[in-house]
Amino acid sequence: MNMRALLAVVASAVLAGCAGQPADAAVGVFSSDNPGSVNVYWMTAPEGLVLVDGLRTLSDGRRALAGIQATGRPVVAIVVTHPHPDHVGGLAVFHHAYPTAPIYADAVTTQTVRDDPLGFYALTHQQLGDDHPARPVVPDHLLAPGATVDAGGLRLETAEFGAGEDVTAVAYYRPDTGALFAGDLVGNRVTPALLEGHTCGWLTGLDQLRARFPAAKRLYPGHGAPGEPAALIDAQRDYLRTVRALVRPSTTDASPGGREVTPDEQRSIIAELDRRYADHPSVASLPDLRQRNIQAVVGELLAESSAPVPAACRP
Ligand SMILES: [Zn+2]
Repeated sequence: MNMRALLAVVASAVLAGCAGQPADAAVGVFSSDNPGSVNVYWMTAPEGLVLVDGLRTLSDGRRALAGIQATGRPVVAIVVTHPHPDHVGGLAVFHHAYPTAPIYADAVTTQTVRDDPLGFYALTHQQLGDDHPARPVVPDHLLAPGATVDAGGLRLETAEFGAGEDVTAVAYYRPDTGALFAGDLVGNRVTPALLEGHTCGWLTGLDQLRARFPAAKRLYPGHGAPGEPAALIDAQRDYLRTVRALVRPSTTDASPGGREVTPDEQRSIIAELDRRYADHPSVASLPDLRQRNIQAVVGELLAESSAPVPAACRP
């Protein structure tokens, strides 16, 4: 390739980065460090910035706040995708900096943050100390299922999904740019947490997400880099279906440990996950996340064996 052609390729790539992906130009992001890296996004609205989620810790919140303040625009609203500790632990930083900005969440998220029914925040507080408050800031604006939000002059469509990655999930869609904020329904090249034991609900939610926002141009995941929506959703579906398929044979009566997964079976499942999904950092700082994931999927598959399962989850 001669120099002129090379320059043309470079120039068109630069232009594609600016003009071809309009959503990115209007979306800022801060990602905490691995392991357990999690994203907070901010998008430009007529009246200021709208934040998506609140990070895990107060120190990460403060680091993100510096980038947000550097834009010179105030935060005028915060929207929360789900109540896992790594998405709400740092909310206090943003709430204290912008106390009048409403914090939107669905009913299940709001109730979970308020009551901590599974002790997740207490546990995270125990692990991380004061950097993760024992009681995160409770969202103060309740979202009805499927409601449209006017956030700082910006119209956001929402969709609520049932138990999957968490007990609930809300996706936020910005129709004027095609930006879709999917929380942890979709990660990008990360090892997800399957601890809730709802991979089937999660697979169903992925199909619903794709059907609900077919015009989405760019998907912003809770963990990992943004990307093309269909590709990211397909990759997430592939991961979940693969784990289920790898675990399923170990739960049959005829397998070496019967319905229990033996240490050997567990090792071979993890080896296969390592082979297929190298360089997929964990979304949590638990060193034994994959072992816990396998146990959760075992429990789910055994429960499913006695009931009809939706098409999205069948082998
Ligand atoms: Zn999550």
